[in-house]
Amino acid sequence: MASVARAPDALTLYPASTLFARDGRVASFDLDGRLLTYFESGTLYKRALDSSVHARRRVGGRRERFVLSPEEALWVFARARAVAESHYRAARGEARARLLAILGWTPERLLGERERFSQVYKPIAILPPDRYFTIVLQATEGCTWNRCTFCSFYSGRSFTAKDPETFSRHARAVRGFLGKNALLRRDLFLADGNALALSLGKLLPVLEAAREVFPGRPVYSFIDVYSGERHQEEFWHALKEAGLKGVYVGMETGHDPLLAWLNKPGSRDELVVFVRTLKALGLFVGLIVMVGAGGAYYRAAHFRDTLGALRAMPLSPHDIVFLSPFVEDPGSVYRARREAMGIAPLSEAAIEGELRRFAQAVRGLGLRAARYDIREFVY
Ligand code: SF4
Repeated sequence: MASVARAPDALTLYPASTLFARDGRVASFDLDGRLLTYFESGTLYKRALDSSVHARRRVGGRRERFVLSPEEALWVFARARAVAESHYRAARGEARARLLAILGWTPERLLGERERFSQVYKPIAILPPDRYFTIVLQATEGCTWNRCTFCSFYSGRSFTAKDPETFSRHARAVRGFLGKNALLRRDLFLADGNALALSLGKLLPVLEAAREVFPGRPVYSFIDVYSGERHQEEFWHALKEAGLKGVYVGMETGHDPLLAWLNKPGSRDELVVFVRTLKALGLFVGLIVMVGAGGAYYRAAHFRDTLGALRAMPLSPHDIVFLSPFVEDPGSVYRARREAMGIAPLSEAAIEGELRRFAQAVRGLGLRAARYDIREFVY
């Protein structure tokens, strides 16, 4: 999609979306006419598939993010629709047809997408930032471990796996729900937290069904070290043959005492061996590092050992090291444990400083570094 910030008054037809600009307000829509993004007065609004609206703007050099109430969302939908409608007289042919599809979505009807979404999906907690425009297919729900002290993504939800028939129905329902919005999405993401922890016997039918419903799209998924390294090389080879293109690993840190303190199983050495297996097969690897985890107490060792671990892995320039600014959940076991031990958290500014230091060091290894801010997740 085009950048929305500087477009002049215009109506632009993209292969999978349409963009309208008028007087500094810019709105983009999918080919079914549903709003994607809206920009006005320095604020960018993104509509998620459940019609929640996520806003982002800079105020005094600081990044602000917030989620709109349903009433505020209706206001955004109406404002965006009006920008599109202002092009009605000039729109001809294909442009007119697309515009009519957009006008078919009253704000109330668009808000109603949240019900359709909830009929197709269970809540989707998180995705890697380079996969926000993916097609999520929930082969499992929850996380096999669910006990990392800092993580509340799947709290209160037990881990369950769909049988092949249920999964197949789910994939077809997702296709129906997305409609032409699927044209914007080039790959598939097997969710939830640890779908690849399943056995090969369960995963192969899932991948087959996924690719039957959405042919030709590569598949990605999350996996944690403790689940990933239990699988043999043949497992990963078979998944690659079935369409798996890459995995995202919640590394968090290369410092084992910190990993243990976070109550996350696995170790630096296990991670290195696991990544070697994946890279030997030519799979993409995205490693997620939590910058600021463990606060001031672990700061130096976290940096040193994470860099040491990255150095030991045969990563290629296509792989990505995601640097995620640590966000402490006030109700988490992490917070309680940190306070009980008198460990000082890093301030937001200090975490930003650490992010820059990590990014520079990662790039110094010839690797790609990217920011992964879980507060900006939108699907
Ligand atoms: S393994 Fe990942 S998803 Fe599961 S609890 Fe830990 S951080 Fe959360």
